[in-house]
Amino acid sequence: MPIATPKQYAAMLDAAQAGGYAYAGVNVASLVTLNGALKGFADRKSDGIVQLSTGSGEFASGLNVKDMVLGTIVLAEAAHRLAAKYDVLIALHTDHCQPRKVDSFLRPLIAETARRRAAGLANLFQSHMLDASELPLAENIKLSKELLRECAKNELVLEVEAGVVGGEEDGVDHSHQPREKLYTSPEDMLAVHEALSGLGRYMFAATFGNVHGHYKPGAVKLRPDILKRGQEAVMAKYGKDAEFDLVFHGGSGTPVEEIRETLGYGVVKMNIDTDTQYAFTRAVADHIFRNYGGVLKIDGEMKAAEKGVAERLGQACDDLLSSGKTLCGKL
Ligand SMILES: [Zn+2]
Repeated sequence: MPIATPKQYAAMLDAAQAGGYAYAGVNVASLVTLNGALKGFADRKSDGIVQLSTGSGEFASGLNVKDMVLGTIVLAEAAHRLAAKYDVLIALHTDHCQPRKVDSFLRPLIAETARRRAAGLANLFQSHMLDASELPLAENIKLSKELLRECAKNELVLEVEAGVVGGEEDGVDHSHQPREKLYTSPEDMLAVHEALSGLGRYMFAATFGNVHGHYKPGAVKLRPDILKRGQEAVMAKYGKDAEFDLVFHGGSGTPVEEIRETLGYGVVKMNIDTDTQYAFTRAVADHIFRNYGGVLKIDGEMKAAEKGVAERLGQACDDLLSSGKTLCGKL
């Protein structure tokens, strides 16, 4: 199938919300990891979300070029062509974009989709994330509103974040944030709903102690009840339709019981990056150690790396209960 249309993407998110499951949002940075992601979803007959970051975009453009927008467009175009060969629905998304990168990353990508639409072509992406969690909530919300309006004009979904995801991503280290920032309060969740509802479709990365990266069991104290309480507060005041489409960041290394608990509280997307990176590196390292003599011939380890990514992502589809539920051919 070609990459999901805006209508198909909306149907995917609605189906996950109604059906108590979620999509893996898997970060890719190369053709090998992109192919691994497509294989992982297709092998499980699960729809899914492939996401690109400022870092992967810069990497994909090459060391001498270092243009995050160009590299992101190159990978997204490759995804459009490759996804057409699979019988599941794939949506394209961009991950964390901090306020200082809005004008150099997010807006140029929205403009690229607008340009394609004007030419009668499909959207380049289905959704983008704005991560303005480093700003005070009022400023975060102001920027979120501006961008949501720009996205809505182009049938793009915007993901916003309030609270802070712990750990480090794309060189932004949050490990010294005060602990309470790691948990989004019901008041903040109400404020986000009140500011954004009606402007366009959005997803919300509320934080509940989740951390980027992979930690030893017990090191991260997840509190999925935070999500439950926030949803209850919003629905008590604004009705059932006000339920958030929530995003779970830092899914790597999370025990399946905790993942499953969040599915009941409206999580429709769980990001996975570190674990699929490990699956990639582990497969390459394993091949190198086993075949040290012949390792200069690299075909084998790249195939192993693609498979490693696909297998780890397949497990995520099972954890998130999206396996076997593709809407491909049903919309
Ligand atoms: Zn994240």
